[in-house]
Order: sequence, then structure tokens, then C-alpha cells
Amino acid sequence: MEPRIIRAGDRQTKVAPADNFVGQVLHESVFAPEAPSRLRVSRVTFTPGGRTNWHTHAVGQILYVLSGSGRYQLEGHPVEEINAGDTVVIPPDARHWHGAAPDSMMCHLALSESDDQGKAATWLEPVSDEDFTQEPA
Ligand code: MN
Repeated sequence: MEPRIIRAGDRQTKVAPADNFVGQVLHESVFAPEAPSRLRVSRVTFTPGGRTNWHTHAVGQILYVLSGSGRYQLEGHPVEEINAGDTVVIPPDARHWHGAAPDSMMCHLALSESDDQGKAATWLEPVSDEDFTQEPA
């Protein structure tokens, strides 16, 4: 882990892969893991209607909402609205999804750690429109 400042202009924003996301989603790597750290920090911007597929994180995930209004659902629980300033704590191996609201964008920081195999997420099936458009609790 080299001491340095990673300048804003030196990072690339990429379109999040359609295999794991629905809608237009932009992914910026703020920090990629460097041993001995296993921390990964990403800024993810979801346009209205955009969301992750269902997925799990082997060692959990923390989301911090930077702007906008979004949705989050832990399997077996109601859909919840999340807004700028909210922190979402997602336990290890819990099936969930997160994304924008149907009519609003949402940008969050995602903080996760890799497991012993270097893997931070296991991707599953897309979130149905029926699940996505549930009225939040
Ligand atoms: Mn997640």
C-alpha cells in the first residue's frame, strides 16, 4: 500500500455491467484493495429505475448515500427508501439489492471487503419490476 493521493481526474468512471445491474448505472472505483487491506470503496450512481441484481457479500457491505433517493431491500423484508446521509449495514451472506428510486437518481459509496479468495460479491438474478416498484415501508 503506497502512500499517495489518488486525484479525482485519475479515476475512470465505467458503465456498470449489464450482467449484474438493471438500467443505466455508473461505477467509479475510489479505492481498489491493496494488501494488507481488503477494503474496496466504490462510488455508484444509479439513474432512475437503475438497480443491482440480487446479490450477497461474503463479509458484508456498508453503503453511504451521497445524494438522491433510492431503494434497498434485504430478502424477506419490505423495500426501504434510502436518502442522502443514510448508512446501510448489510450483514455477510444476506441476499439484497440496492438502487435508485423509480423517479429519482441515487448515488452511494459502497464499502466492502474481499474474502480469502479475493471475492467481495456473489451476483444472482435481476430484481423484478414487481419487487422494484413495491411501495417502500
Ligand atoms: Mn450490495
